[in-house]
Amino acid sequence: LLEIQGLHKSFGDRKVLQQIDLDVTKGEVVVILGPSGCGKSTLLRCLNGLEPVQGGRIRYRGQDLTDNKVDWREVRQHIGMVFQNYELFPHMTVLENILLGPLKVQRRNKQEVLEQAKQLLERVGLLDRKDAYPRQLSGGQKQRIAIVRALCMNPEIMLFDEVTASLDPEMVREVLDVMRELAQQGMTMIIVTHEMGFAKSVGDRIVFMDQGQICEMTTPQQFFTQPQTERAQHFLDIFQ
Ligand code: ATP
Ligand code: MG
Repeated sequence: LLEIQGLHKSFGDRKVLQQIDLDVTKGEVVVILGPSGCGKSTLLRCLNGLEPVQGGRIRYRGQDLTDNKVDWREVRQHIGMVFQNYELFPHMTVLENILLGPLKVQRRNKQEVLEQAKQLLERVGLLDRKDAYPRQLSGGQKQRIAIVRALCMNPEIMLFDEVTASLDPEMVREVLDVMRELAQQGMTMIIVTHEMGFAKSVGDRIVFMDQGQICEMTTPQQFFTQPQTERAQHFLDIFQ
């Protein structure tokens, strides 16, 4: 579904991603782990057209996303992304935030989108907050709304960048539960997280990065019990 081949990314002369090769198949949940600064966010941002790349190929359903002529507005309808800091529009209600993309970008029928938005809000337990403004919500609620907003575009792939990193522990769970359910329903996801328990139980595959490279790519079972590199072993020692 998504093929990444020999991807390179630099900021100035600083190489941030080097020779990244990764194929993601439909329905797969890929979890990216690695120390701070290793390039996890940059990789996701490249997949969403938020950073230009300096070499290599990214293909989505065969379409070359490194081509200059790519219409990212179109691609982002299929590859949705949720960030650490929600990025909801503060002056819009929950429902207005969710409806914006489907109505303005996708030009879909309002009644149909409204139905879908309500169903999604119901699913994450926040239908009663539909008319609230972001400032009236907790961090965990805002993050669940951000996920609903991305889902309402009917993406085929979802990218999550440390979406629980700035949440209090009790709110982390409610967000992870939403993601776990999505995984069970067959959503294709690439998830950057430091939640090891979640990575172990929900990931189909673990990608361990260090210094802009993929060091290990294996099953959670293998990664958490028998990491193949010293760097991964060291990383796990710190986190477990
Ligand atoms: P963290 O776990 O802390 O979020 P990360 O793995 O997501 O880290 P990135 O944010 O991808 O790391 O950053 C990778 C490297 O690229 C870092 O060395 C960072 O300083 C550098 N970098 C990121 N964004 C920029 C930018 N806009 N300009 C210059 N350097 C950048
Ligand atoms: Mg990051």
